[in-house]
Order: sequence, then structure tokens, then C-alpha cells
Amino acid sequence: MMNKFNLEQLVRENIKDLKPYRSARDDFDQGLLLDANENSFGAPFENDAELHRYPMPYQEDLRTNIADYRSVRPEQVFVGSGSDEAIDLLLRIFCNPVSDSILINPPTYGMYKVAAKINDIKVNEVRLTDGFQLQPERVLNRVTDVTKIIFICSPNNPTSNVMRKEDIITILEGFSGIVVVDEAYIDFCDGDSIINELDSFPNLVVLQTLSKAFGLAGIRLGFALASEEIISYMMKVKAPYNVNKLTSQAALRAFQNTDIVRKKIKTIVAERERVSQSLQNISTVLSVFPSDANFLLFKIKDALKVYQKLATSGVIVRYRGNEPLCENCLRVTIGTPEENDRFLAELKKL
Ligand code: PMP
Repeated sequence: MMNKFNLEQLVRENIKDLKPYRSARDDFDQGLLLDANENSFGAPFENDAELHRYPMPYQEDLRTNIADYRSVRPEQVFVGSGSDEAIDLLLRIFCNPVSDSILINPPTYGMYKVAAKINDIKVNEVRLTDGFQLQPERVLNRVTDVTKIIFICSPNNPTSNVMRKEDIITILEGFSGIVVVDEAYIDFCDGDSIINELDSFPNLVVLQTLSKAFGLAGIRLGFALASEEIISYMMKVKAPYNVNKLTSQAALRAFQNTDIVRKKIKTIVAERERVSQSLQNISTVLSVFPSDANFLLFKIKDALKVYQKLATSGVIVRYRGNEPLCENCLRVTIGTPEENDRFLAELKKL
């Protein structure tokens, strides 16, 4: 199939016609600012760090930092409240409610489907193989005129593996809609990011986040990397002040400490391999799947019961046994060595 990707044809008419909201800060950001109905008397505590003023709508500093870190241009970076915001925006930009659909590859991250359902967009599914890999031919066969976005998660949640790059490329080449590759866990794996392909594929959108490798889930900062044209549609549709000042300050600090980030990633990866080995030595554990992320998926006898008993002893993991291909599977996040030891000890007791 020839790829006839045409961004302007793909964007919803109402979004193309949209005149975005113009915030006070679009006009001026210096001077005696009496234009945004802020409270000049300040926050109700000392040293409010200018929190009485709205944040910058376009987050140039933060986007430049991310662009430098990922070797793209700042105009190719959208920042939002977690990658979840980017997922929702992409659906709203490209998918007409009721008539259009997306395609997902289960078992996978649950938000694609939920966000689509919230927007009244249909969801088609093509399962991963038994080895948790994509089925590119089936995916492309399943595509119709109203399929607007294919979501690929790599490394995938909950199966923890990266998808084969050739398969992602086959889908990028064969599909003339948007291909979203969610790389929330990319920093935990050896393979390279698909962002290297951004210049070759104008239909590619890569999602990343500070919630995992950067250890900043609490600030809610996710980002999308794509062509300037796609990013400008995202900037047009987002809420004017979608990233708050506390979040961008913390994120900027993180980008000054990427050596610490890298060290922690190494520790997590080493712990992952240790926990994986230990799990394999537990007799009730039937298999531990290879992981490229900061969690492990493993199959165990009576998974639901084990999950409940672990919870009773205060150790909380995720039961994934209801997902396709994940019968009797639990998902455990890699914690500190002490946390991992406690998890392993409780599991052995059962
Ligand atoms: N994508 C995947 C694959 C995830 O597992 C998660 C979080 N569980 C997210 C995205 C959400 O990330 P964020 O915190 O940036 O919204």
C-alpha cells in the first residue's frame, strides 16, 4: 500500500477552522501587567515564586530543553499534563466523534481505549502475537477510510517488551493516518527510540513522559514529538495554560540533572534483572517475561489469589489476568532493593 499521508486532509474541519483562544500573555509578557485579571496582592503565603501570575502558554524554555535532550527542534515538541493529555488532544484533532476510529494492539495501555470512548470514537483491535509482537500485515488489513490513528506502545505496558522496529516502520509506511508510538518506558531499554525516524515519517507522533525514568510522575509532564505541523495543531487545541509553573520549574531542574537520571535508570535495570532471576527460582512462578521497562510481567499459579494475598500483606502489584494473552499474569513495578526484597519474600511465603 502506498502511503498517501496528507495532514491537512486528516485534521478535522472544525480544528482547521478553529481560531485559538488568545491569552493575555500572547500579546504582552512584560510591563505593568493589568491585563489578565490576576491578583497583584499575591498568593496567601510568602515567596510565592510569581505563582499569582499565569504560566507561559508556550513553555519555550522547557520545550528547548526537551528538544536538546532528544535531539529534535523545539518546534517539534508539545508539552502537556502527562502523555495522557497528548493522547486526548490527538484524538480530538484527528478523529470525528461517532464516525471515526482508532486501532490498538492489545494487550496494551488502557488509556487509548478509554480516551477514545470518552470522545465517542470507535476502537478496533488487532492482538499482539503470542510473543507480544505486532502483526503489521493484519493491522494494515484492518485499516479503513475512517481509521485515523494507530496506537503502538513500545516498550509495551503490560507486556514490558519493545516492539520490533521493522514492524513499526511497516505500519508507518503502509498507513496514511497518524501512527502514535508511546515510548513512556523507552529509557529503560537498550533499543533506540523511534524519534530517529521523525524526519522520514510525517505521520509519526512519539509520546514520552517524565513520569517513569525521570521519577516525576507527580508533576504531570508528558510530551509529544512530531513534525512542526502536527505540533502546531496540538498547540492550537491545548488549553492556554496547560503546564503550570511548579511543573515546568521541576522539569527544568530535572534536565539539569540528567546524569542522576541515568544513574537511577542503571540501578532500576540491574534490579529488574535481579528480581527477574529471583522470580524464576520460585516454584509457583510459571514464567517471567523479558522486560525492556521498569516493571516485570510474570505468570503464576492462581494469580488472582496471589494478588489478593499479597495485598493483604501490604504488597500491592497489578493483576493483569483479564487482559488477552495475560492469563494468570501479574505486573510488578521494580522498586528499591529493599522494596523488591520485601515483595519477593512475601511471594515466597505464599
Ligand atoms: N503510556 C504508558 C504506556 C503508560 O504506561 C503510562 C502510565 N502508566 C502513560 C503513558 C501515562 O503517562 P503520563 O504519566 O505521562 O500521563
